[in-house]
Amino acid sequence: MKKISIEAQIQLDAEHIWHPYSAMHSDSPVYHVESAHGVMLHLSDGARLVDGMASWWCAIHGYNHPTINQAVARQLQKMAHVMFGGLTHEPAIRLVDKLIKITPAGLNSVFISDSGSVSVEVAMKMAIQYWHASGLPDKQRFVTIRNGYHGDTFGAMSVCDPLTGMHSLFSSILSEQFFVDRPGSRFGEAVSDDDIAPLETLLNQQHQQLAALILEPIVQGAGGMYFYSADYLARARELCDHYDVLLIADEIATGFGRSGKLFACEHAGIAPDIMCIGKSLTGGYMSLAATLTNDRVSAGIDSGNPGVFMHGPTFMANPLACAVANASIDLLLEKDWLATVNFIEARLQRGLAACKELPQVAEVRILGAIGVVELKQAVNMKAITRQFVDAGVWIRPFGKLVYLMPAYVMSAEELDYLCAALVNVVSQQPC
Ligand SMILES: *Cc1c(COP(=O)(O)O)cnc(C)c1O
Repeated sequence: MKKISIEAQIQLDAEHIWHPYSAMHSDSPVYHVESAHGVMLHLSDGARLVDGMASWWCAIHGYNHPTINQAVARQLQKMAHVMFGGLTHEPAIRLVDKLIKITPAGLNSVFISDSGSVSVEVAMKMAIQYWHASGLPDKQRFVTIRNGYHGDTFGAMSVCDPLTGMHSLFSSILSEQFFVDRPGSRFGEAVSDDDIAPLETLLNQQHQQLAALILEPIVQGAGGMYFYSADYLARARELCDHYDVLLIADEIATGFGRSGKLFACEHAGIAPDIMCIGKSLTGGYMSLAATLTNDRVSAGIDSGNPGVFMHGPTFMANPLACAVANASIDLLLEKDWLATVNFIEARLQRGLAACKELPQVAEVRILGAIGVVELKQAVNMKAITRQFVDAGVWIRPFGKLVYLMPAYVMSAEELDYLCAALVNVVSQQPC
């Protein structure tokens, strides 16, 4: 293989490669990663960064974990992939067996797919097919909460926040859905009648055309890093039952312990009718997601026309990815993950407390292994990213939000270092 210098690689990247939500020819640099170990990113220029992002919620056990590496190697000896149409295999079967045991009660039917957005498409199609099969074909639309994020494909995008999702740009092709304001009641607070009223009114008026309410339970992620009342979620579940609307919980970001429960629905003691998981499902090793549903929905779909569920990705239940997911879930559950998440929460509380005094800061919010510092003004991404890299940390804010979601294996010293760097860099922002 011909060697390409780092400079030449970066040049090729700049000329030809899109990065997430970026311009093709952008003046924002991308940093070249040589390798990653534990919680450290090793840049090709020799810099070592403490990673505060866990690659967007995913890398819960850190990078290059020997146990997961071994699971990949072992599965590779058998097969990397076979089609899932008409065939099955142990990695998928073991994974599904685990998932139905650890997720909220009743979610017994599982559709494995290749990314979070696809799992949301699948969830929406399940809801529509269920109502069609039940003789209510008018129930094809969705209600969701503003400031949500559910992915970038068209179905998922239609239930993302209309402003940040740029609905006006795609208005002629996006399905029109219903939106209610996010609850004002925060995590730990009871929900007020005023807070739940918009959802109740909407369900009351539109339930005949509503297939499902789709929401991110407790933690709104990429749409605003906001933690809301568990009581709201419990009331939403009751309202869905009352108006015969399915509840879809998008746990793609919150799943696997991040919010202080294995799944965020547990904060409200509810089970959704359909649940999406992804991101940390494989410990950040590769793309895999799943949509789980209950017997009511799966039996309904079976009983209707065409009697099959209309989806089937080429890489469905990829054996390598399933083997990795099995290893990641075992690693999580064999340790006291809750004590770890509680420890990170306490350390973030302590480490980010100084932010509350800064004139740049509007609010500091912490839940589980998630720390959010909301600034008064949007950051200059290019400048602040450079400052973080110079401070030896990898933190990637968006808009006014500077946030941390460290790997669960991060040590107390590394957490303190990460928080101190965040406080220091934020204190240098214009205000
Ligand atoms: C990341 C995310 C998605 C989309 O997942 P992809 O794997 O990026 O397609 C959907 N919903 C939530 C809540 C997410 O955080």
